[in-house]
Amino acid sequence: MLDIQKVRADFPILNQKVNGRPLVYFDNAATSQKPQVVIDAISKYYSEINSNIHRGVHALSQLATDAYEASRQKIQKHLNARYAHEVLFTAGTTHGINLVANGFTKFVKEGDEVMVSAIEHHSNIVPWQMLCERTGAKLVVIPMNDNGELVMEEFNKLLTDKTRIVAVNHISNALGTINPIKYIIDKAHTVGAAVLIDGAQAAPHLRPDMQALDCDFYTFSGHKACGPTGSGVLYGKEEWLNKLPPYQGGGEMIKDVSFEKTTYADLPHKFEAGTPNIAGGIVLGIAIDYLDSVGFDNIIAYEQELLDYGTEQLLKIEGLRIIGTAEHKTSVISFMIEGLHPYDVGAILDKMGIAVRTGNHCTQPIMQYFGIPGTIRASFAFYNTKEEIDALVAGLNKAKMMLA
Ligand SMILES: *Cc1c(COP(=O)(O)O)cnc(C)c1O
Repeated sequence: MLDIQKVRADFPILNQKVNGRPLVYFDNAATSQKPQVVIDAISKYYSEINSNIHRGVHALSQLATDAYEASRQKIQKHLNARYAHEVLFTAGTTHGINLVANGFTKFVKEGDEVMVSAIEHHSNIVPWQMLCERTGAKLVVIPMNDNGELVMEEFNKLLTDKTRIVAVNHISNALGTINPIKYIIDKAHTVGAAVLIDGAQAAPHLRPDMQALDCDFYTFSGHKACGPTGSGVLYGKEEWLNKLPPYQGGGEMIKDVSFEKTTYADLPHKFEAGTPNIAGGIVLGIAIDYLDSVGFDNIIAYEQELLDYGTEQLLKIEGLRIIGTAEHKTSVISFMIEGLHPYDVGAILDKMGIAVRTGNHCTQPIMQYFGIPGTIRASFAFYNTKEEIDALVAGLNKAKMMLA
């Protein structure tokens, strides 16, 4: 069981007033808050071992290198990846997707198809469109239904031997839908297509298992999973990472350089050009440790409680409509209130210390599907409480009165 008061005490930012009211932080799908162990680890890195990695013979460089590589191994274990060199450090999800989409220029030609879904973040649409523009391949989109679920019958029809890669999110940031990625991965493999999973919204809520999923790529951002901004992971299967060309050229990613010919370093360094976000990589491992110590079984059970309670309470508000009613969801509730603009509601909530996100959530195609300008999104983390949901409901009722 999750001891909520103990958990909340780990997050110093939660214990403050915003606009004179206790902060209610419901913008977790945009970025998570950080526990004290993560904040301390950043300070400790810069106070004690700051140094460039992989090249120094001196003591600090060795300590920093060891900590960086130990973090990679920790993340390998967390993800149940086969090898540590299948775990690449990145600047975040966007970086990971661009790395793969760029590399796929080598494997995609005119007439081929690249598949995404109707409920992707712009980060998992635009890099693939750019790939299609470079190569003449066609972008194919798995449609959604009114609940915000992907239509698997249509996916089955769209998948052909022209499909080179399927890129879908594990969990939708705008709707909370948990996609049937195991089905998608297995089915895509039957036609020889690779699969990239955008795990940005999954990493804070569950523990994905790379070998069980058998996906070819999986990417997430540190900052949404209690880690530092500018940190992230791209998992890639060894055979794919060996085939994929480097993304950026520079120091660290080479074996030998001459003006005639350069040879590339082995994995994972081939994809880690330049001085990386050393502190970010190390501290991301601390964040993962923290999440594992709270325990994903506890997190999943508690967040489901928050989702159920929040859904029930919000639906009591007259004129409120939830956008995204998939059977399998995480603790994200996107909604509209009849006659009110999401932005106005968000601004009033902010005056009451309640942080929600309003707008299209980097998913304009979803908003186009529903014919709406945007939603109000309350996204819960394991450190939120039912009392905070009550405060949101009270805030929304007040907003309705003020804006009526
Ligand atoms: C946040 C998010 C991204 C982009 O992550 P960055 O950290 O901004 O790179 C991509 N996909 C989904 C589903 C997201 O929620």
